[in-house]
Amino acid sequence: MGSLAVSRLAIDEALPSASIADQVAVIARKELAPQALAIDEGTLYPDALLRRLGEAGAWGSHQPVDGAADLRCAIQSIASLGEVCGATAFMAWCQNTLVWYAANSGNPELVAKFADKFASGEILGGTGLSNPMKSFFGIEKLKLKGRKVEGGYVVRGALPWVSNLGPDHFFGTIFEREDAPGGIVMFLADCANPAITLQPCKPFLAMDGTGTYGVQFRDVFVPDELILAEPAGPFVKKIRAGFILLQAGMALGLIKDCIQIMDEVEAPLGHVNRYLPQQPLQFRELHAEFEKETMALARDPYNAEDGYWRRVIALRLRAGDASVAAAHAAMLHCGARGYLKSHRAQRRLREAYFVAIVTPATKQLRKMLAGDEH
Ligand SMILES: Cc1cc2nc3c(=O)[nH]c(=O)nc-3n(C[C@H](O)[C@H](O)[C@H](O)COP(=O)(O)OP(=O)(O)OC[C@H]3O[C@@H](n4cnc5c(N)ncnc54)[C@H](O)[C@@H]3O)c2cc1C
Repeated sequence: MGSLAVSRLAIDEALPSASIADQVAVIARKELAPQALAIDEGTLYPDALLRRLGEAGAWGSHQPVDGAADLRCAIQSIASLGEVCGATAFMAWCQNTLVWYAANSGNPELVAKFADKFASGEILGGTGLSNPMKSFFGIEKLKLKGRKVEGGYVVRGALPWVSNLGPDHFFGTIFEREDAPGGIVMFLADCANPAITLQPCKPFLAMDGTGTYGVQFRDVFVPDELILAEPAGPFVKKIRAGFILLQAGMALGLIKDCIQIMDEVEAPLGHVNRYLPQQPLQFRELHAEFEKETMALARDPYNAEDGYWRRVIALRLRAGDASVAAAHAAMLHCGARGYLKSHRAQRRLREAYFVAIVTPATKQLRKMLAGDEH
């Protein structure tokens, strides 16, 4: 059975937004595919395409309704994009995460002003939660500091990498209060603020077309209307499973294309490729298993049980490992064809490492599963 058939099974008939995932898949094949090379080379940040995907509903389906949220369509959409371009799947995750923050915020002013604009793609942006996520598990200290002033906070510090940014973009992140020890606040950073500077990064192994910058905050005034949550702790507990589950879309799409790459060389090279230890059938089974588990967990992102959280982390860890394994196998199956710069096998390998290192990275996930939070 082809993996496409597995995908269609996984979105059960009751999923009302399945048509959005279908539309995204068409846009991925017809509009994203011709741009994938330029995005990978870093000569194109595809903001027009991201807005177009927003118009098709790609960033809106996971918003909570009556206190419940369903991430399945958002993950399937990210997977369709990731089948074609890992960088775009990552930007889709960034945008979906921004929407996830705004839609879950208890600040009515912020919700009224931003939730729809993020969900429609009218405003683009992302998330600067790597440093806070690492700080919660004792890996590094919070890099942004803030203090209370009339009508908001003043924030200073720097984040080394934040993606899906541009001069009019927003992203969600967290600062530590200098004036109230132990206090942490989550807020939206407005890249148009003159006290915020976007610093271009040195070229990466992949992901250069993702609008990734180092971000400096030079005593930035953050008004109350940009506060996502204060204190941030309980809010982070609420959104963290969604934050991680949405990343599964990047892995699902990438693994599926690696299987396709292996299939494509089956006719000319199958007679010798069959001696390789890892075959497309194994990855098809793994993909189906991940998809089933992802879709089961994605229906219930507010589940606060410890067992649920551990399943989310375990899935994320296996998805990173499997992305690298599938891309590695695709390279070996392709041989010299995949070693050409013009072949996507080597791009998939570079992208796969990103799935394994983006926060929460493989090493952090292993620390979390070991139960060592500090
Ligand atoms: C292309 C790209 C896009 C990213 N986009 C985002 C994003 O949108 N939002 C977000 O929050 N995070 C982003 N990150 C960060 C990412 O999620 C991880 O935090 C990062 O890859 C490192 O994670 P790690 O757990 O392996 O930490 P490690 O690499 O083990 O440690 C990270 C820390 O080491 C230091 N460090 C190591 N190398 C450097 C360097 N070259 N320059 C400066 N400091 C360094 C810094 O203090 C940094 O915080 C991005 C990273 C990359 C490479």
